[in-house]
Amino acid sequence: MAAYDSLLDAVGGTPLIRLNRLTADLAPTVYVKLEYLNPGGSVKDRAARWMVLEAIRAGALRPGGTIVEGTSGNTGIGLAQAAVQLGFPIVVVVPDKTAVEKIAALRAYGARVVVTGSGFPREHPESVRSIAHRLAEELPGGWLANQYDNPDNPRAHRESTGPEIWADTGGRVTHLVAGVGTGGTITGTGEHLKEVSGGRVTVVGADPLTSTYSGGDGSPFFVEAAGHYRHPETLDDVWPESFHPAVVDRFEAIGDRESVHTLLRLARLEGILVGGSAGLALAAALRTARDLGPDDVVVALLPDSGRAYLSKYLDEAWLRRFGFVDEPVADLPGLDDG
Ligand code: PMP
Repeated sequence: MAAYDSLLDAVGGTPLIRLNRLTADLAPTVYVKLEYLNPGGSVKDRAARWMVLEAIRAGALRPGGTIVEGTSGNTGIGLAQAAVQLGFPIVVVVPDKTAVEKIAALRAYGARVVVTGSGFPREHPESVRSIAHRLAEELPGGWLANQYDNPDNPRAHRESTGPEIWADTGGRVTHLVAGVGTGGTITGTGEHLKEVSGGRVTVVGADPLTSTYSGGDGSPFFVEAAGHYRHPETLDDVWPESFHPAVVDRFEAIGDRESVHTLLRLARLEGILVGGSAGLALAAALRTARDLGPDDVVVALLPDSGRAYLSKYLDEAWLRRFGFVDEPVADLPGLDDG
């Protein structure tokens, strides 16, 4: 516990929690790192803080300037929080499929939200990416955070997430498991852990079954903010520069159903309520742990809270409508010990 002079100083330092009931039949120690305990509620607080502070230090973001980003997700929240703390206006461009709660949250921080159509190819003038680039050029002192290609995104994890996991496991971590969205988390954390362990840590990418990162066809999946689609018309499949694929030793490709069932079990058996990409990462961690021994220490990074998905993965009617459960959730197999 500590007292901080600024909210941004409270970013990071999230706990590792050892799983007990969910892992009763597994030999290794499995820890989850609870990124929902960041002040903005997700792992993206780290990238946001590092990107903004570095832009100020480098003179790319100056007093009177405006922060701009194209994102429907947690990065927008992290950036909006940093913008308020540091006294910058912020404009966030989002696709029209974005949940109303997310837009309301951004507006509550005082962000200006620009809504555009969903599904435009990257280079289309009305795409989220094109509008964000244009606004950053047109607004006086505009600075585009550009999490997909900004090296300060992976750097945040090289300098915070990685060292935290190494210190908190006393250097005993053997496996890191994380999803890949922009790739910032797995790249920075994985590179750091490999470096300090002399290459002893294995990095496992948790990827939706059809995501192109792990060799899928790029067709749609439900889990949000992790994995990579191929654009259905342009067949565009450009990977972010924040992701260094060489860091990943192995992928576990996980179907939506397994991700969702895993997050439901985590809530019931361990009292930890997380989102879909956390269910994905944990499912990959449990698969990984099955083949390991008692000296292995697996760390799964859980990006955000289930609170943001109460009307989706945590709603019985939604789960039934999309075929994730056939029986009442309380009767799902594996919701009791062993
Ligand atoms: N899950 C959630 C909920 C996220 O918001 C993100 C970040 N976009 C990720 C997973 C993936 O993290 P990264 O972008 O660092 O690869």
